[in-house]
Parts: sequence; C-alpha cells; structure tokens
Amino acid sequence: MATYPIRTYGDPVLRQVTTDVENVDDSIVKLVEDMIETMHEAPGVGLAASQVGVQKRIFVYDIGDGPSAVLNGRITESSGEWTYEEGCLSVPGLYWPITRPNHVLLEGIDLDGKELKIEASELLGRVFQHEIDHLDGVLLIERLDPSQRKEALKILRSQSLSADEQRAKHKLLGRG
Ligand code: ZN
Repeated sequence: MATYPIRTYGDPVLRQVTTDVENVDDSIVKLVEDMIETMHEAPGVGLAASQVGVQKRIFVYDIGDGPSAVLNGRITESSGEWTYEEGCLSVPGLYWPITRPNHVLLEGIDLDGKELKIEASELLGRVFQHEIDHLDGVLLIERLDPSQRKEALKILRSQSLSADEQRAKHKLLGRG
C-alpha cells in the first residue's frame, strides 16, 4: 500500500465533478486501499478520490468502526438539522460550525459491486454529506454562512500568501 499527497484548497481538481465507476477492477481496489491508508495517516474520518487527484466517484470513511468504501454514492433522502464543527483535510487546520441535515440515506455500490443503502445520522451522516460534496466539486467553504465565508477566505488568502513568501525565500536561498 502507498499514500497519496492530499490536494489542498486552491487546487482546481477539488472543483471538478467526478464520474461514476463503471468497472470495479483491480486498479479501483488498489486505489481504495491507498485512499484508506492516506485517510488513516492524515488522520481523517473520510477521504474523497478528488482529494487525491482522481476524478472518480469514490470515497472512503472510518469513524472508528473500521474503514469502508462507497462507489458511485449519492444522498437520496435527508431530513432534520444538525450543527457540527466541521473540518476538511483539504483545508487543513480550520474548523467551522456548519448546519446540515442530520439524517441521510446514502445509496451506492461497494467494492464487490453490490448495492449499498446506508442510513446515517450525526457524525456518519455528516461524513457522507461532506464526501459527496467533494465528489460534486463542492468544498465546505461553500457551506458557510456569508460572514463565516468572508472570514474563511481572508484566512485562506493570508495562508497562500505566506506559502508564496516561503517559496520566494527558498528560491533566494537556492541561489546561494
Ligand atoms: Zn473534505
């Protein structure tokens, strides 16, 4: 098994909509294994294929009961409301209270190509909604209310500026 680098905010791959898996072949099984290792190493409770630069409708999750994978997943029903301090491996270190539906029904297939229907609430329901958003090219920034979003974009802009400064410094050092 191997791990992938996790794509972060600003990487255009995170904005793309993924496509369904047509054949669950060995390459998909290997991808899922590597995604699980990447998620555990991060560590995170969920990881979507687009976060490792793969445009396929696949995500993995593990909220403490062991890892699972969902292929071609979609939320087909949702109800209730739940506010939870939500973070994202692609927006590292930042968390916001976000309100989303509490109960969801997720439908998709598993690694054997068998149909899946999972009802989930609270943390698991939240993970499903967060990962399905990734597969639709949506980041949690878009789930913030206007004032939270303004604040978030300010932080993210200053982070990318300091990353540019770091790169500039390295360049100077590199020149010796
Ligand atoms: Zn995320």
